Amino acid sequence: AIWNLGSINADMVYALPHLPAPGETLAALDLQQFLGGKGANMSVAAARAGSHVCHIGAVGADGAWAVDRLLEYGVDTRHIAEINTPTGHAIIAVDRQAENQIILFPGANRAVSSEQLGQALTQADSGDILVLQNETNMQPEAAKMGRDLGLRVCYAAAPFDAAAVQAVLPFLDVLFLNEVEAQQLQQATGKTPMELGISDVIITLGAKGARHFNAETGETVDIPAHAVTAVDTTGAGDTFTGYVLSGLDRSLPMPQAMALAARAAALMVTRPGTADVIPDLKEVQEASF
Ligand code: ADP
Repeated sequence: AIWNLGSINADMVYALPHLPAPGETLAALDLQQFLGGKGANMSVAAARAGSHVCHIGAVGADGAWAVDRLLEYGVDTRHIAEINTPTGHAIIAVDRQAENQIILFPGANRAVSSEQLGQALTQADSGDILVLQNETNMQPEAAKMGRDLGLRVCYAAAPFDAAAVQAVLPFLDVLFLNEVEAQQLQQATGKTPMELGISDVIITLGAKGARHFNAETGETVDIPAHAVTAVDTTGAGDTFTGYVLSGLDRSLPMPQAMALAARAAALMVTRPGTADVIPDLKEVQEASF
């Protein structure tokens, strides 16, 4: 199984005639609400890829719909707590040119209790996968607990924060970075991916594909991206990560897991939207590229 200590957000997208200026009051033309958060996106991707995914997280009383949505997409929601803090959300203003402004409120995502985390992870089996991103609290505690329990500990260093990655680094088996995050980490640590002491490092390079560094063999493998017409790249990275995790969960070798993930992410960039449009395994296998 895959255990994901991850964020759950309500993405509130307001369509505006223009972005608000300081002091300006502006009526929105439209509001759409979507399930979001890197954690939720990865859980949906791994579940749609066919894995049993237990999401560990928290929402407020206003977040029941998000939990229902995760359940609908096949995620095990038993370890999502309802607490007395507002659900994490993003207020996204979008103007007519598709330029945006985003206010992120972490809310319940940063209020997971150690009791809740402990209760969930003690139910994991040795060899299970634990994944974390930088949108919740309890990251170092979870990583250490995961390592101690014999889980395969994976981390997506997004949104990037050097101190947050360094706090979990000693416990990691797999590290996911995009191109910018990889540069930021190298700057912060002075080390290349091979020198981090992590057995597998994956760097995604957008339309240029992805790269796998294996510290044990010293090998670097490039996984090409598929040539598609991109209409919306949000969620591509999370979909890629979720599919890699599902591949590992099914014991695929890393390059094979990444090749499957590249197909899923390519399909994803051809679709507007995020969690709600992540393709399932059948769609990914049947895609015509
Ligand atoms: P992030 O969204 O986290 O920055 P990337 O942009 O690196 O992540 O994208 C993750 C993966 O998604 C890439 O490795 C690639 O396989 C796929 N991908 C992203 N953008 C495109 C694109 N324009 N065309 C095809 N595949 C893409």
